Amino acid sequence: MKPVIALVGRPNVGKSTLFNRMTKSRDAIVADFSGLTRDRHYGDGRLGNREFIVVDTGGFEPDSTTGIVKEMARQTRQAVAEADVVVFVVDVRNGLSGQDHDIARFLRQANKRVLLTVNKAEGMQESPLLAEFYELGMGEPHPISAAHGQGIRSLLEAALEDF
Ligand code: GDP
Ligand code: MG
Repeated sequence: MKPVIALVGRPNVGKSTLFNRMTKSRDAIVADFSGLTRDRHYGDGRLGNREFIVVDTGGFEPDSTTGIVKEMARQTRQAVAEADVVVFVVDVRNGLSGQDHDIARFLRQANKRVLLTVNKAEGMQESPLLAEFYELGMGEPHPISAAHGQGIRSLLEAALEDF
């Protein structure tokens, strides 16, 4: 069985961009506004000779009667339940939000391995801006730039180290 890596995080942090980077596909919809990815989305990835599956989340039907927040929570729960490793994506350019704290609280109860991943950190491998993310209580932040392809290999190595 290939390990399953779920990408979770609030809208617009760059999950779909990271999905494309990890799967080298253009399949996920990347939007300049939140929430365009329609539902969970699966892709195949490879690191050397190791194969894995990536799950993108964060879509919702714009006219959903359940409401956007509930729908995102539902998708995140389902993706986390079927994942071996969770990549929790936050955004260094916007900093931490209440939604990030809510997701962190949920992930702590989920009992899965979580890699806290700080996206949009191009050129910031050593930045003091990364320190604020320790506040989430999810361990060491992994800085990446999904858009520029920085830090992806070391993130994947960390994600796959048990497999
Ligand atoms: P999602 O809602 O979490 O799936 O986020 P998207 O992948 O759709 O990206 C949201 C926005 O962030 C888009 O405008 C992306 O181009 C931008 N973005 C994604 N990754 C990066 C990055 O590494 N650096 C910067 N500066 N912008 C990024
Ligand atoms: Mg998306």
